[in-house]
Amino acid sequence: MQDCIFCKIVNRELPSDVVYENEDILVFKDIKPEAPVHLLLIPKKHIPSLLDLSEEDAGVIGQIQLAASRLAREMGLAERGFRLVNNCGRDSGQVVMHVHYHLLAGRPFKWPPG
Ligand code: C5P
Repeated sequence: MQDCIFCKIVNRELPSDVVYENEDILVFKDIKPEAPVHLLLIPKKHIPSLLDLSEEDAGVIGQIQLAASRLAREMGLAERGFRLVNNCGRDSGQVVMHVHYHLLAGRPFKWPPG
């Protein structure tokens, strides 16, 4: 999608620090990290929010979950744990309207979130 920041990152029209990529998903470091580890996992396909998912997106969302699990292990996060967050819509604080999951780790997190 033309005006989407994350589509531009996927298409290499904007720079990013890529951690993992395959045909369907991209994982890169958040430009403004909220924790020592802060990655964004996104589908390459433009999907505005979780509310816009369709049945055909089940595979790519599964890939994101699996990539989060595998990367967390590879980065040595399994023992202390991590948080995987999707913000959906205005009240959640979603700013970029392209589905993304935040993988946060390296410090304790509060529950419930603020
Ligand atoms: O869930 P939400 O939409 O609020 O998160 C968007 C995230 O995208 C922010 O954490 C922001 O720092 C990140 N971002 C980025 N690179 C950009 C633009 C935004 O990592 N070029």
